[in-house]
Amino acid sequence: MPTRTLGARKRIALVAHDNKKQELIEWALHNKTTLAKHRLYGTGTTGTMIENALDQSVNKFLSGPLGGDQQIGAAIAEGSLDMLIFFWDPMEAQPHDPDIKALLRLASVWNIPIATTRSTADFLMASHLMNEDYDCIIVDFSSYIKRVIGH
Ligand code: PGA
Repeated sequence: MPTRTLGARKRIALVAHDNKKQELIEWALHNKTTLAKHRLYGTGTTGTMIENALDQSVNKFLSGPLGGDQQIGAAIAEGSLDMLIFFWDPMEAQPHDPDIKALLRLASVWNIPIATTRSTADFLMASHLMNEDYDCIIVDFSSYIKRVIGH
């Protein structure tokens, strides 16, 4: 079975919708010591807010509605991100709803750990796997790639 190794030092993407940004910051402060051992990424606004709150550098993509969610999805597909903490707002439609769906879809396609609630994010941070290499099993897409189209 094909795998991708998520290294001991994880590349963690952080995204929060506007109504969830405060919650993500509180969560990040609560997990500051753990997060300090990893490399952080984020959509533009979320990334800036986390950087200021933690005093830890965050690699920032574009703001989510301007393409940041799509950039994070692409980075997951390329194997350059290991984990997604995504506090999306279940109570309000977003202008970039299709991008959000695409991001969650790609995270599932590539079987990376994702947390869309604060409690799941806490469980992830508490896992011993945070500090170890982890061989993430991925679906063997080779037959899909080699499929014959038409006759
Ligand atoms: P933002 O984007 O961090 O730039 O606000 C988050 C989002 O995807 O809505």
